[in-house]
Amino acid sequence: MTASEIRQQFMDFFASKGHQIVPSAPIVVKNDPTLLFTNAGMNQFKDYFLGNKVPAHKRVADTQKCLRVSGKHNDLEEVGIDTYHHTMFEMLGNWSFGDYFKKEAIAWSWELLTEVYKIPKDRLYVTVFEGDANENLPKDEEAYNFWKEVIAEDRILLGNKKDNFWEMGDTGPCGPCSEIHVDCRLDDERSQVPGSTLVNADHPQVIEIWNNVFMQFNRQKDGSLVPLPAKHVDTGMGLERLVRVLQGKQSNYDTDLFMGTVHTTEKLTGKVYTQSDDKKDVAFRVIADHIRAICFTIADGQLPSNNGAGYVIRRILRRAVRYYFSFLEVKKPLLHELVPVLAQQFAHVFPELQQQQEFVKKVVFEEENNFLRTLDSGIRRMEDVMGKATTKAVDGKTAFELYDTFGFPLDLTNLIAAENGFAVDEKGFEAAMKQQKDRSRAATELDMDDWTILDETPASVFVGYELLETNTKVLKYRKI
Ligand code: ATP
Ligand code: MG
Ligand code: MG
Ligand code: MG
Repeated sequence: MTASEIRQQFMDFFASKGHQIVPSAPIVVKNDPTLLFTNAGMNQFKDYFLGNKVPAHKRVADTQKCLRVSGKHNDLEEVGIDTYHHTMFEMLGNWSFGDYFKKEAIAWSWELLTEVYKIPKDRLYVTVFEGDANENLPKDEEAYNFWKEVIAEDRILLGNKKDNFWEMGDTGPCGPCSEIHVDCRLDDERSQVPGSTLVNADHPQVIEIWNNVFMQFNRQKDGSLVPLPAKHVDTGMGLERLVRVLQGKQSNYDTDLFMGTVHTTEKLTGKVYTQSDDKKDVAFRVIADHIRAICFTIADGQLPSNNGAGYVIRRILRRAVRYYFSFLEVKKPLLHELVPVLAQQFAHVFPELQQQQEFVKKVVFEEENNFLRTLDSGIRRMEDVMGKATTKAVDGKTAFELYDTFGFPLDLTNLIAAENGFAVDEKGFEAAMKQQKDRSRAATELDMDDWTILDETPASVFVGYELLETNTKVLKYRKI
């Protein structure tokens, strides 16, 4: 079964249970100061849970483009190292806004996984909230009893507040959740160690695929919980993980969701992906992952820049460039060549990428080109500093110089330092950054009434983008 068929079956299944299929919200969040990017399917429905808006449909389902690289959910460090955390991923979800509750949600998730997708029952585990005496939270007996109707009791595990109680924030809707985990280990391994001991243990082949949240309380300002008048269901299942399970692969990157970009990268670099843990293969995975995050965020209107959400994209892009530069020995722009592959692959689900593919390609190319101008010297500078260091630390001043002169985001400096057994003095970096900001503020104040003298060197530098009235975006250059 292809990923497209698997996605479609999810929609068809929930449509048959009376759900309205709705589009994904943009991955870039424009009107919520607490969130830069969509990081879960429920984000776009927040106002329904808070009671600020009335939904047109009480049952909906969709696939949501998510990004988890900042804030509470930051999976960036895992990406490419493990085979199931991505920066950008699709979260399949079904919702009940004050309609059905635990009984139906549990029965349907089980029916979909075991009868439609035909995952063997002896590979599945589910978790239920065990309760928390300190917080006055009861064990989720209801969910436990509904699970007991479909799955053997030794496959129902109790989980703590961290994994099995979901809260929107310090106040507001919250409730217990039940997660579904799949044991994908080979048979002889499974007979040696019980899968139940590996759930939530970061085992590469025992992975969580689906979270079912049951919103039933409202957390008050004083910390107390009152029952919600209308109870809601909010679920999220990672499509890439589901596809990996159904296609019988040991890694998300071996599914048809990623193989197109991996194969194109092989062709472009002359290197071969061998699914190992060595740096070359990590680079293949990082590239296949990061290009998706880059493409979908740009297509949704977030351009790379020096601050806020734009800097998150720039950081991801520079991280990918460094991986191919250092581990695939590619010294010229590569990522932009992958844009058409994704545009075509997702044309029927997220057509916005195909519609803007030339623009996205150009932006990615410019970004890569810019960073490649300074990357090599930055790496050399870092090697020089590490070579001469007396302690295993990169000082804050150097980290800032790498950022300011060579365009190294701090997390990239951290990554390269860590690969060499070094730490980075982040406090020193922040201090150097503050000093520079103070200096430039003072300089701006001084310059207020002065003429600005332009350097007349006939070269040009990429300075940004402009949105024309016709809604086309153009790249702007300035002479330097
Ligand atoms: P994990 O424990 O594996 O980090 P999670 O508990 O943080 O996952 P949830 O917030 O419960 O994840 O999200 C619902 C589902 O979305 C997960 O069960 C998983 O299938 C998927 N998912 C979460 N994070 C990622 C990610 N970074 N990449 C791919 N899929 C993800
Ligand atoms: Mg997580
Ligand atoms: Mg989890
Ligand atoms: Mg979870």
